[in-house]
Amino acid sequence: MKLYNTLTKQKEEFVPLEENKIKMYVCGPTVYDYIHIGNARPYVIFDTIRRYMEYKGYEVTYVQNFTDVDDKIIKRANEENTDMNTISERYIKEALTDAEGLNVKKSTYNPRVTQEMDSIIDMIQTLIDKGNAYVVDGSVFYDTKSFKDYGKLSGKNIDELEAGARIKVDENKKNPMDFVLWKPKKPGEPFWKSPWGDGRPGWHIECSVMAKKYLGDTIDIHAGGEDLIFPHHENEIAQSEAANGKQFARYWLHNGFINIDNEKMSKSKGNFFTLREIVSEVAYDVIRFFIVSGHYRSPINFSRELVYAAGNGLDRIKNCHKNISFILKNAENKDMSEEEKTLLLNSDKFRIMFETAMDDDFNTADAVTAVFEIVKFANVTINENSSKAFVESILNELESLCDILGIKFTDVQADPETQEIEALIEERQLARKNKDWAKADKIRDELKQRGIILEDTPSGVRWSRG
Ligand code: AMP
Ligand code: ZN
Repeated sequence: MKLYNTLTKQKEEFVPLEENKIKMYVCGPTVYDYIHIGNARPYVIFDTIRRYMEYKGYEVTYVQNFTDVDDKIIKRANEENTDMNTISERYIKEALTDAEGLNVKKSTYNPRVTQEMDSIIDMIQTLIDKGNAYVVDGSVFYDTKSFKDYGKLSGKNIDELEAGARIKVDENKKNPMDFVLWKPKKPGEPFWKSPWGDGRPGWHIECSVMAKKYLGDTIDIHAGGEDLIFPHHENEIAQSEAANGKQFARYWLHNGFINIDNEKMSKSKGNFFTLREIVSEVAYDVIRFFIVSGHYRSPINFSRELVYAAGNGLDRIKNCHKNISFILKNAENKDMSEEEKTLLLNSDKFRIMFETAMDDDFNTADAVTAVFEIVKFANVTINENSSKAFVESILNELESLCDILGIKFTDVQADPETQEIEALIEERQLARKNKDWAKADKIRDELKQRGIILEDTPSGVRWSRG
């Protein structure tokens, strides 16, 4: 498995720290509003990567935080005349609903800043004790000059950064690139007690602390959107490596942006669609399929046309699945023919194609092509005369590869309306067997009125919504 490591700026063979185990940390959202389509990308991409690693036999510990202390949350709380926790609780719940809709597997841990305050204060104290941070009037700053590797992830040079610093210079800072670890309380804002006075943490420290607490000093994979490379991830490295004296993350993965008219979709620019708005038009799985249809490092443009095109592609896969599931239900339990055996040997190439794509820096775009190849193959080779074993093995192949991409096929048995329709069809079949034509026709008409079309085929009754 090769992956592109932002730290070394090249594709590298992936070797975990501990055999068969992967410790993975993904930066999560700031919970002050619904997530937008851009935020959905890291959710889907890093979940797909996790699924693939699990498919390969790794045991993945997956941590994604919620930033539940932030200026934007406080602002929203003030606007609504409520407190910060009410806002963050609400949007954590909504983010989890969206993640579930996108079929994102549950994280092993979802820590929140407000619940990790003691560990945050401990790490800041360690940084002060080691000479990497300094206190000024109730604020604590990280001394970027004290960390010789500062800039190694983003490739930025600290002196050049300082020369062109556009960051508003805080007169308390020794150097413009220094960043805040702890800030003193402001009137009306939530605060916690600390050795440096009442206040709250800066943004970057939380991820260093949570990664250490839930995964250890050195982790295998750290991931997030590419806007986080600098300064967030650069600062996480500076904090963790100075505090722990060890390498922080061995592989850094960053997804590209979802753009609108070639500009990053973001709340601050106002050019965004929340995921909720879009899923009132198209299903969650269409959005997931739209996202996995592109390579995770390439920018993707968001437009309704492209989303609908993804929906059509997904329908092709789902229709194929529906057809072969139907054929399987009625297929004969006979020996595979010689022709089927040869075809099956040949079908291995789809899995190989899929794995080759995913092993090459998780090329989900090519993996999706491999799934379409199976669909084509199934549509041509499976028919009413196919043996059960043959149909079953193609169906399993399709399902297992789609599962890695997070595409699930709804269980027809689970839907009560479908169950009722199928029960009526059974009743009609029984009536026909008993030559009770009047009853059979009555059921057919009743179904027709509900928009259900029946088609009598050699392998049973096929139905669709007309
Ligand atoms: P935020 O809540 O803005 O910190 O973002 C949460 C996650 O979404 C981070 O990993 C961001 O890098 C990522 N993200 C934000 N906007 C976009 C976008 N337009 N395209 C892709 N990823 C994004
Ligand atoms: Zn982070």
